[in-house]
This record gives sequence, structure tokens and C-alpha cells, in this order.
Amino acid sequence: MTKIAIDGPAGAGKSTISRAAAKDMGYIYIDTGALYRTVGLNAMRQGADVNDADSVIATITEDLKVELRFIDGEQRMFLSGEDVSDKIRTPEASMGASNVSAIPAVRTFLFDLQRDIASRNSCIMDGRDIGTVVLPDADVKIFMFASPEARAERRYKELVAKGKEVTYEEVLSDMTERDKNDSTRSVAPCVQAEDAILLDNSDMTPEQTVSSVLKLVKRYKHKHRNFY
Ligand code: C5P
Repeated sequence: MTKIAIDGPAGAGKSTISRAAAKDMGYIYIDTGALYRTVGLNAMRQGADVNDADSVIATITEDLKVELRFIDGEQRMFLSGEDVSDKIRTPEASMGASNVSAIPAVRTFLFDLQRDIASRNSCIMDGRDIGTVVLPDADVKIFMFASPEARAERRYKELVAKGKEVTYEEVLSDMTERDKNDSTRSVAPCVQAEDAILLDNSDMTPEQTVSSVLKLVKRYKHKHRNFY
């Protein structure tokens, strides 16, 4: 089984690229940000203060069921049986996820789920700490990057296409704040693993980026004669 870890800041195109590359190779694509978003959504629904660790930890009870299911090959997120895949995509849920993800107990809560699913499938897993913490033994590690302006522009277009009312400035400011949270926190910060390859796609089309990822995976497989 082959495991590919793709990390990088918000809006670097990780999910679009990973989904397309996984489809091409017949692997499953696991979006770990969706897990943090689901825990954040649950905390907000329970009235917790997402900036306060104890308040968030109090929402991680035995009853809390965060499930990742694949429906027609697509990952869907379930919160105690409810499909919340669309509800976790709001700007508030993004910020909530960024805040709760800095809490070690939240990361521990989601760790086994991520390891377990990767151990049973050839996969592309994307996130912030996949190459450094979750799958330090991944076969190919990529750190995907793009300038903050390029990333904000992409995320803005995505949200507008979904009918969300946001401005480019709001998206850029949210993104800059999340980048700062994610890269400076003390647990599992979003940093490039020592053995990861940096892929800066600021001036690349999604197709060019997918093709670069596929080339890196093919190079690995050729070198290791691993065709699965
Ligand atoms: O990838 P996405 O933007 O959906 O992630 C939402 C938030 O979840 C990020 O801002 C980040 O703080 C957190 N996250 C994380 N570790 C991961 C994936 C996401 O801390 N592996």
C-alpha cells in the first residue's frame, strides 16, 4: 500500500489536487481538515468558546461520534449520525477548526481515526501535519504552497461559486489569520517535513499541479518497484 502525505496552508489547492490525483491512481482521498471542522462545528453548536481549551475539551465526550464515510468514492463527514459535510464549509467553521485544532486533546482524539484509515488503504491524505506527525512513514511527502494572494483569490472564487456572500479582503484576512494560527501553534504546526518536496503552485494551473504530483508518485513507484 502506498501512502502520500500532502500538507500546506489553507487554499494551496491541496484538496482539489489530492482528489484529482487520487482518482487518477485509484487511491482514496482523505481530507483531514474536515475532521477538525467537524469537531469545531460540534463545539460551536454546544455553545463552547473555541478559544478556550477547557470549554472545547468539555464537548469531547463519549457520545461524540465523528465519522468519515465514503459515499460514491467521496468522503462525507458525519457528526453523531448527521451528515455535516456542507455545514462545515462556512468561514465560521474554518476559523472554529483552526482554533480547536491547536488543542492537543483534539488532535489526540482524531489521531487514531486518521492512522487507522491510512493503514487500510492506499491513500492520499491532506492536512497540516500529515508528513510530520500522522504519517511520518508516508512514501511520498509533498508540501504544497502558493502565495497568500493566490490562495485567497482561489478560496474567494470557490465561496462565491457556492453562493456565499464574502469579499476578497475578508477571505485574505481570514486566511492570513489562519496561516498565523496554524504555523505558529506549539502542537503540530503546519511546517514542511524535512523529507517533503516543496511544490509552489502560485503560477501553476490545477492540471499542472496534479501532473507534478503524479510524476512524483510515479518516480517513487519506479524507484521502489511498487505498483500498488
Ligand atoms: O484543510 P482545512 O482548511 O479544511 O482545515 C481546517 C483547519 O483544520 C485548518 O485551519 C487547520 O487549523 C486544521 N487542520 C489541522 N491539521 C490537519 C488538518 C487541518 O490542524 N491535519
